[in-house]
Amino acid sequence: MPRHISSVLNIQKGAEKWTVLAQVVHRGHSQLTREVPPRRIMRFLLTDTEGTKVSVVTYEQHIKTFSKFLQPYQRYYVSNAIVVPADPTYRVGTYECSWILNYKTLIENYAEPVPPMLPCIFELTNFSDLHKYADSDNLCNIRGFVIHAFPIKQLDPDSISRDIIIVNEEKKLMLMTLWNEFEHDEGSKIADMISTAPLIIALRVKVTTFNTLSFTTRYSSGILISPPLPDELSLRQWFSLNKEEIRNLLDAKTYNDASYLLPPPNEEDIKAISNFQASFPVQKAAWVQGTVKLAYGFSKYWTTACANCHKIVNADIDWIIHCPSCKQQTEVELRARIPIIITDASSSIHCIISGEDAEKLIEFTPLQLKQAQEDGFQIDTELNDALKKYTVVCFLKSYETPFQGQLQRKNTVIKAYTAAELSDRPLPLELPENTQVFSELRSSSARHAETSSKDQLFTPSTKLVLEEIAGASSYKDSQTSATSGAKRSLEFPEDLPADTDPKQPTKAAEEFAKEPAKSYGPLANIKDSPAKKPKAKED
Ligand SMILES: [Zn+2]
Repeated sequence: MPRHISSVLNIQKGAEKWTVLAQVVHRGHSQLTREVPPRRIMRFLLTDTEGTKVSVVTYEQHIKTFSKFLQPYQRYYVSNAIVVPADPTYRVGTYECSWILNYKTLIENYAEPVPPMLPCIFELTNFSDLHKYADSDNLCNIRGFVIHAFPIKQLDPDSISRDIIIVNEEKKLMLMTLWNEFEHDEGSKIADMISTAPLIIALRVKVTTFNTLSFTTRYSSGILISPPLPDELSLRQWFSLNKEEIRNLLDAKTYNDASYLLPPPNEEDIKAISNFQASFPVQKAAWVQGTVKLAYGFSKYWTTACANCHKIVNADIDWIIHCPSCKQQTEVELRARIPIIITDASSSIHCIISGEDAEKLIEFTPLQLKQAQEDGFQIDTELNDALKKYTVVCFLKSYETPFQGQLQRKNTVIKAYTAAELSDRPLPLELPENTQVFSELRSSSARHAETSSKDQLFTPSTKLVLEEIAGASSYKDSQTSATSGAKRSLEFPEDLPADTDPKQPTKAAEEFAKEPAKSYGPLANIKDSPAKKPKAKED
């Protein structure tokens, strides 16, 4: 009597004497489990002809036996594996069990010259939705063509990685970092065939805010190279038709460009700041919006960074360095780095905004910021007056860093949009009642009324210094020539009011709290600073 061939869904816990015709969707690496003591494990993802996927594992000495079989995309008869409830991490689709292969499991080759297309569906995430996964443990499945493979990076004797660039049908380019065994197995294979732009499906990859937004492999990830898919032909045709445009996007390094990777969000994607802070244990990055002011108590508003990846490096701006982060030989650039407080109706949050996003708010060049500090000018009031004109929508990330033996939470602006930049897509704003607009500020407080009249504040010698700084075109920093044209000249008050003393941040905060209320309309109605500077080149 011929054997009955079952479908995966018919194989439930306790099933005996069964056979399924199964196709290998993914073959994992030989890895160590996270148990104590660890066991060696190898994972597979199989599908039956109906497209039901099943996660399969084998341990220790059985790995050698079964890894001879179960080659990617080939079909096999699998009989009498042990059926157990599926590990939620590896559970795929509707099937609630997973299989363990042991010495009793029978696997037989299914003789066919070419295996069929994979019949299963993959739950894929759009690249435009990746911000929802950033810095969370929500891993995602993605598909795209690999259009570039960077060289291997040896990070330390035990750790290697390789970055690749993937493009999907949204014409979005994303960087993916393949770590260790993912580089060793899939990365080197992909690099060897990079001229053919292989299509890959990456399962359970993490979205991080490294490089603005990028993918990284995790222990549980899986990468399918050139899987036989029913829509493979139409995907290839799409790629051929758009090849030139994709090439241009690669040349423009859009995988590195925050405006491409994090375009303005939809209203429903913006979180209340209090929710953002509360969700730290599960997700550390999100869009928020609010009004801006300076976080007092800092004296340095600039930094030196790798011109390629923007990692902060302690180096001089005329140095050529080998960057420890991106491993490139690059110049060192000056970048603005401003501590700010963003406030919405729910809460306030301290964060650091830097680079181009900071410069568009403060209207000073990084060189002017550096010069001001070196010459001992307090520019807190100037900065705060500039920042207060803005309402921003920004993508924030939180992280913890050790400080005096304790973990301290820090926040960084990954990308910021001002109200004017979003004027074509108004977002309803819920802002606190005690916020303030610039024009009212000037007339409502004696302090600000005073600073608006610079003739009363500046001595002739200060004016001379200011003119010198404003006209400092002879500096080596090339950013000055690119950005100073539309920047206003510096206005440094000689004696700062006591409440802006960096040593007294609390008093300054109290002063702000006293400011009269102003209710905001939709974001589109809020005027940004009239003085817009031309966009500075960031990469
Ligand atoms: Zn770098």
